[in-house]
Amino acid sequence: MCCSAGAAAAGGATGGVPRLCVTNVQRFSLHDGGGIRSVAFTKGCPFRCPWCCNPENLSFEPEECWHEKLCCGCSARPDGSRDANGAPCDTPPECCPAAAKELLGQWRAVDELAAELLRDLPFYEESGGGVTVSGGECLAGVTRQRAVIALLERCHAAGAATALETTLAVPMAVPPDRLVGACDAFLVDFKIADRARSLAVTGIDPLVRDANVARVVAAGGRVVARMPVIPGFTDGDACIRANARRARELGIRRADILPFHQLGEGKYSSVGLDYEMSGVPPLAEADVGRIVSLVESAGLEVVVRGE
Ligand code: SF4
Ligand code: SF4
Repeated sequence: MCCSAGAAAAGGATGGVPRLCVTNVQRFSLHDGGGIRSVAFTKGCPFRCPWCCNPENLSFEPEECWHEKLCCGCSARPDGSRDANGAPCDTPPECCPAAAKELLGQWRAVDELAAELLRDLPFYEESGGGVTVSGGECLAGVTRQRAVIALLERCHAAGAATALETTLAVPMAVPPDRLVGACDAFLVDFKIADRARSLAVTGIDPLVRDANVARVVAAGGRVVARMPVIPGFTDGDACIRANARRARELGIRRADILPFHQLGEGKYSSVGLDYEMSGVPPLAEADVGRIVSLVESAGLEVVVRGE
């Protein structure tokens, strides 16, 4: 053995110190909340959207992935068999000489993570940006929810604007006023509008989301509706209209339209998952225009995001 396999630390808190399992901190992002932002991607989601572009953030624990293109086959199993991710060897990620194996997700103390996110504070101030916590579903589970709020509170106290990307379709343990005190913008998903279909396809209950949005809005929170437009799932006129109407009824003023893309496709096989949206083409410009008109006619300000 070239080295010993590193044991992944488990759990969301040690000795009372809140921690989060994070796959990545993306600096200088221009998408997730306005201005220049640093985005922390928390790992784990209880839902399963077939179009999810972050399959590496579905499981709640650190996990191995394998990048086929980087693999030089240096320590392939003698019998030619493969592991669950398709890798040809049993070498742990930290010993792979080609970085073809990678450990996704690291448990990070909230204080240390906040310090990293705050490194770019001057850029946030200049650009109207800030810190965004995304996922996965970053509010899934009580322990994680508290850790996320603790992280946002630290960033906020240091002067950074804060945002959450979330379904808000999870039971909330943190009271709305504390949530709103820590978070300047809630970027909330509006996906399949029909409740039965949403539950069947993704597991997301729009009624749970709506109840939480109503509480956040009542506490003075700013909510933006994020509408991923997914062929065959959320691109029909009825779905778009229903989502736009619901957002307005809830007191939301802006919708971000997120046209379908295939950026997540390559990640599925690396974590041993099947991708249901393979080969589905991106939306035509005319479709995006149609959707923008529908949402605007419901009285929402619309921003089309090119992510
Ligand atoms: S150690 Fe890395 S490069 Fe070598 S066979 Fe395994 S995955 Fe491929
Ligand atoms: S809620 Fe978000 S992270 Fe979870 S499966 Fe759906 S798209 Fe992926």
